[in-house]
Amino acid sequence: EVSRRLPDATHVRLRPEILATPPYRQGKPAAADAFKLSSNENPFPPLPGVIDAIVAASDVNRYPDAAATALRQRLAAEHGVDENEIHVGAGSVALLSQFIQAAAGPGDEVLYSWRSFEAYPGLVTVAGATSVQVPNTPDGEHDLDAMAAAITDRTRVLIVCTPNNPTGTTVSADDFDAFMARVPESVLVLLDEAYVEFVRDDAAVNGLDVVGRYANLVILRTFSKAYGLAGLRVGWAIGPVRLLDAARASAIPLSVTGTAQAAAIASLDSADELLERVEQLVVRREHVVSALRAQGWSVPDTQANFVWLPTGDQTDAAAAALAEHGIVSRPFAGSGIRISIGEPESVDKLLAATDGIVKTLP
Ligand code: PMP
Repeated sequence: EVSRRLPDATHVRLRPEILATPPYRQGKPAAADAFKLSSNENPFPPLPGVIDAIVAASDVNRYPDAAATALRQRLAAEHGVDENEIHVGAGSVALLSQFIQAAAGPGDEVLYSWRSFEAYPGLVTVAGATSVQVPNTPDGEHDLDAMAAAITDRTRVLIVCTPNNPTGTTVSADDFDAFMARVPESVLVLLDEAYVEFVRDDAAVNGLDVVGRYANLVILRTFSKAYGLAGLRVGWAIGPVRLLDAARASAIPLSVTGTAQAAAIASLDSADELLERVEQLVVRREHVVSALRAQGWSVPDTQANFVWLPTGDQTDAAAAALAEHGIVSRPFAGSGIRISIGEPESVDKLLAATDGIVKTLP
């Protein structure tokens, strides 16, 4: 119950572009009997070894290691680079923010495909820079030709999201190389690979294969999805030291907790087991995609842990129908619905709902 009324603060001058920016919208929480398939989370609970590491990292009266040294050393050793060529942030969204702020300010442009990850526009606005959004192809893919053509002398950052959130489509390695040949060396390219562990298409680009080939390229990865640590907020970047140092300079100090660092290291220790779970989710995804296509849906070729239903102007009604079947989805008004691959028990409920919905579409 509200017992005090705080002032409305209308006279405080705030940046107009911030006032015009809606806060980041999170997927809805789910009722106890519903499946939360709205945030591309990993449905598996944490491994016991990861819980043990979290409990062991109990010296929370102390600040964490701001440089996340042990985790960086571990990732550096796994990928054969220097530890300074690894940077760790409070989720890859924090890394995106740091790199955008490091390279783009007022008057500068940040270029990305759209629709893509919902956080990009807000992060660009906060940096004071301008978003240039290049529409996806009708198949939900990045239109790399159009993106290259949209580069101007104001372009400072270019984001390639593969697999793309929310369509799940990937950029092929060949297309990526051809694209990079058209990007000026002065433009920072961020390859957002939040879902890369779910990719099974051999033609898709993999950042770890191409990092080092381009001096302006940084790869962003996360422990949130395949590794199931969304709640702890750990992401990492690999790329040239000069670029990572600029991100480190743009970071909020000490934002990656010691608990998160310990859990990330424990997850790497259990990578085989965690990637076996990823494989189960991939099998489930393939089942869902073929079942949806058999129902008559035209779904993009997803390589991520979610599927995209192009529901167009029927999106709100379709999301409501899913909710009635106990499926919490992520609708994008007027466009489509993104649904995560979740618990095994969610699949039949989902497919029963989509079978009803597809019949109501024009
Ligand atoms: N990139 C993409 C494409 C995403 O979908 C997400 C999460 N939804 C992120 C980055 C950020 O993930 P996190 O901050 O949890 O690492």
